[in-house]
Amino acid sequence: MGTAIHRIEIPTIMEVNTGILGNMGSYLERAGISRVIVLFGEGIRELFGETIISSIKSRTSLTLLETYDFDDITIENLVPRAFSIPSKTDAVVGVGGGKVLDTAKYIAFLNNLPFISVPTSTSNDGFSSSGCSLIINGKRTSVHAAMPFGIIVDLDVIKNAPAKFIYSGLGDIVSKISAVYDWYFEEQNNVSKVDDFAAMLAKKSVNSIVRMPYTNITELFFLKEMVDSLTMSGVAMEIAGNSSPASGIEHLISHALDKILDKPQLHGIQVGVATYLMSLVQQHRAERVEKFLSDTGFFDYVATLNMQAEAFEKAIDIAPSIKPNRCTYIHVEENRTKAKELLRSNPILQKILH
Ligand SMILES: [Zn+2]
Repeated sequence: MGTAIHRIEIPTIMEVNTGILGNMGSYLERAGISRVIVLFGEGIRELFGETIISSIKSRTSLTLLETYDFDDITIENLVPRAFSIPSKTDAVVGVGGGKVLDTAKYIAFLNNLPFISVPTSTSNDGFSSSGCSLIINGKRTSVHAAMPFGIIVDLDVIKNAPAKFIYSGLGDIVSKISAVYDWYFEEQNNVSKVDDFAAMLAKKSVNSIVRMPYTNITELFFLKEMVDSLTMSGVAMEIAGNSSPASGIEHLISHALDKILDKPQLHGIQVGVATYLMSLVQQHRAERVEKFLSDTGFFDYVATLNMQAEAFEKAIDIAPSIKPNRCTYIHVEENRTKAKELLRSNPILQKILH
């Protein structure tokens, strides 16, 4: 069996700390970048535009070629914008939530330029991964782009974002427990080949945060751990060359909920609930998942959302068809039955779902 050489890209700029948005210019300069464009998500320029723009303009070797308020992930609108940026651009900076990061990431990719990811909330590992979610033919579609060249996360900004984004980030990171387990399950069934290093990294990313002592989830050390963990998860996917280390059965259930529901919850919220359910089905580290999601307040938060057990039942049934070539626990009928039974019998799931 031949093995292709797989080139791995990891971020060159990796800055996660408090009050660092104003250092943007020096980070870019240090990385050898000189002519940038900046894309802001909706409402982001009003909040952080001034700090970022003046930081870039303050560096004599840097030129801010253009700024945009543009976070349109529809491919028909995104492509013309990608090919109308100034020809001298040598880096694309995206500031804001998931939409603008995906937009900027793809514009950078189409121009073969480095992308600097500046998330203002870290509700999933999108800010640190090569994939983006675009609208193609009216449907949300996962598209491969490139790893961010830089990741700059101001923890003061993350701390002040609505709590739901932190819970969602925690839900996305805890999912590595069920995702990696599914990956091994697939290997046992000769459907996939586990990349050992990527699996190790994905496991480390979640283990460091679930074992970490903290008193409040908005503590800076805890938030830094979350951001670092989500970044490691993004890098694990890059190493594997696919999303398996970061996305298993629990992600398929979340994708199914996105299809079923008019108003789905945040990705990591759905994924976190599905991770708990699947850790019970897999009988793998369910106590650890339960403790983490209880202690952080994730379950209490979910209980306020009026999520329906019935939607999860439907999602379990259609989840295998979302990725028919995979072989997660949910692709086995017996496990689907078990999962649906747990929705009706597990006390925590009964409490948080309605
Ligand atoms: Zn995810």
